[in-house]
Amino acid sequence: MRLKNRIALITGAGRGIGRAIAEHYGREGAKVAVADLDLAGAQQVADAIEAAGGTAMALAMDVTDERAVDEGVNAVASRWGGLDIAVANAGIQHIDPLHKLSYGNWSKVMSVHLDGAFLLTRAALNQMYASGGGTMLYMGSVHSLEASPLKAPYVAAKHGMLGLCRAVAKEGAEHGVRSNIICPGFVRTPLVDKQIPEQAKELGISEEEVISKVMLKNTVDGEFTTLEDVSELAVHLAAFPSAALTGQSIVVSHGWHMQ
Ligand code: NAD
Repeated sequence: MRLKNRIALITGAGRGIGRAIAEHYGREGAKVAVADLDLAGAQQVADAIEAAGGTAMALAMDVTDERAVDEGVNAVASRWGGLDIAVANAGIQHIDPLHKLSYGNWSKVMSVHLDGAFLLTRAALNQMYASGGGTMLYMGSVHSLEASPLKAPYVAAKHGMLGLCRAVAKEGAEHGVRSNIICPGFVRTPLVDKQIPEQAKELGISEEEVISKVMLKNTVDGEFTTLEDVSELAVHLAAFPSAALTGQSIVVSHGWHMQ
């Protein structure tokens, strides 16, 4: 087991990529705090981890709520005695061209990704600095490194998370904290399924064309990235034994955006 007895908290883990990471961490021996806006979803994931022989707890947490994040992190640290791994994964998408984008939708996407990542980082670093170290992971995207049309707030927020990850790597080093950002290509989750018809309408093409000509166009093999691909990388980055791997963005995308 690569994460035996490590204490991990993952935001947005009630479904999708966060759920896959939570379950994979559970199989690797970590104690997993499953945080989500949707407490019922988080509880289901925690129950599934425990049913498979792991240790988990569910947390109701809106990552844009300063108090909820601080209290959630403190609850995990008091229950299990610290926090070793924090994954800022919660995210939303909004499809609109810039000239029609409302300030409200801009702010909402920026806030969930970037404010949420900051609030988790601050609360987690306080625990990690007190115990001599830990690992911060950010769920970025290929959109942390390049842009696509119709996704301006998402692209801006994901680029911002790359900057935050690098800042944490610099400041955290002397406290034993490593920080890395995972940059997936498209993974079939509710977040992606919702935007296929939205993009088809906005671009005036079919849903099949959104998949083949927009989402997977620049991959080497026309394949979606899988939940398992992303969760395996999240395990690897959390388990990595030294600060040789910090401040890095790792792209997992079937070759879309080679760096
Ligand atoms: P998803 O919609 O399936 O799951 C997102 C989860 O986040 C949900 O459980 C939702 O309840 C939760 N959430 C939303 N707002 C929240 C908030 N304010 N506080 C707490 N939880 C909140 O999405 P997903 O595809 O699993 O995406 C997870 C992360 O991966 C996101 O950051 C997303 O940007 C990123 N990502 C996804 C893809 C993809 O293709 N699916 C690609 C690259 C990056």
